[in-house]
Amino acid sequence: MDYSVKYNFKWKDLGDIALGRPNLGPLTKVAVYRLMEYTMRDVLEKRYGAVETNKIFFDSGFLAGSEFCRNVLNKSLKFNEFISDLTQKLLNFQIGVLRVESANLETFSFVLTISEDLDCSGLPFYGVPVCDYDEGFIAGILHMYSGRSFEVKEIDCWGTGERTCRFTAKLINQPEMSELTATN
Ligand SMILES: [Zn+2]
Repeated sequence: MDYSVKYNFKWKDLGDIALGRPNLGPLTKVAVYRLMEYTMRDVLEKRYGAVETNKIFFDSGFLAGSEFCRNVLNKSLKFNEFISDLTQKLLNFQIGVLRVESANLETFSFVLTISEDLDCSGLPFYGVPVCDYDEGFIAGILHMYSGRSFEVKEIDCWGTGERTCRFTAKLINQPEMSELTATN
């Protein structure tokens, strides 16, 4: 079998939506997004099992978060302003409502919530968090912004019966992060 890589995602692969959809425009229904996401999860889990599928969703989210940060966010901002920019862009793209519940800027560990989340808000109870893609998305954004690795875990989710997604994010390797928070 040929395992050589044939495709690398590039932001321009999202296409010229204004050109391609002059009448229907850039928006669709959340159900359509979820239809692709959860049918893909079905097929991937049956083929590769739940653990590997979760990793695939995490890694895809990580790539998406990295490219979202590179192409949409302003990486030159100091950390607090960067989080404000991120919050606004998540609203603009109708991805979710981000709040920083707690932040320790000495250790760079955070608790974040994303309400009305695109992936899981309104889902029935599964007994487990389901937003592996979002975990990766947040980790990818933080990595692209800071150049450092963060461990991101979803601790509450609609899948566990909560009404918001709550994530912990913490720096994996100890850094010199002071340049990100220092005031000009
Ligand atoms: Zn969730």
